[in-house]
Amino acid sequence: MKKILFCIGLAAICIASCRKDTKVDLVQPIVTRVEVGDSSATTIELTAGSSFQLTVEASDNESLNEVLVEIHAAEDAHEHQGNGHAGGEFHLNSGEWQNQQTLQANNASATLSTQISVPGTIAGQWHLVVTAKDDVGNTSLEYTLLLNVTNDELPLIEGVTTPLADATGTVSMQAGSSLLLAGTVSDADGLAGVQTYLLTYSGLSGDTTVIPMSENPTLLTFPEMSFDNAQVGEYRLVIEAFDTQGNRRWWDNRVVVSE
Ligand SMILES: [Zn+2]
Repeated sequence: MKKILFCIGLAAICIASCRKDTKVDLVQPIVTRVEVGDSSATTIELTAGSSFQLTVEASDNESLNEVLVEIHAAEDAHEHQGNGHAGGEFHLNSGEWQNQQTLQANNASATLSTQISVPGTIAGQWHLVVTAKDDVGNTSLEYTLLLNVTNDELPLIEGVTTPLADATGTVSMQAGSSLLLAGTVSDADGLAGVQTYLLTYSGLSGDTTVIPMSENPTLLTFPEMSFDNAQVGEYRLVIEAFDTQGNRRWWDNRVVVSE
């Protein structure tokens, strides 16, 4: 009798554990390839108003369910885990661009394509993030691209600071000293407004200086202006310009003030 009970017990354990093995899928799908046009680079140059073909290849041990494509602004220095581009961009964008798409998939591997339009009014840097989900909800690591959007229709802004900014656009200076800014702004349609200001990274703005101009010039050079008594902290020094067509661009440098 003891022997029989032992055998039944053993069989029960085996059935329970065998079931567990076949029912639970903990394996994440993988995004294996992301291409814009023919390029598999993780930094992509785009022109405002154009469109591009995005191709995504993903695979799973069981079955894929969907592939998510999301575009968001890169301007707050956030970073991404996973594959592709890591993030960390901090310059202000001009204009808004947000895009979310869900591409359906139902095999163990899939190659999916979609056409994406770049808005005509924007310039700056955005992230395109691809993730794949399988049938039981496991999500892949992110695969991130950096999209650099250029736009000749927006006013062109060149700012020069003292102290000079480094190659990343960061000005380092000491508390109590002065920050100087000079610049040139141009636009073929004629400028309608130019202003400069300091912004904290939480979005609080200091005094705004509106640059005087006459009769919508196509070129405006403004004389050096001074931001005095900088306090310890991190700021954006911003030049904002718009033309007679309503096209608007933001230029900025990061200002780091230390003791
Ligand atoms: Zn991002």
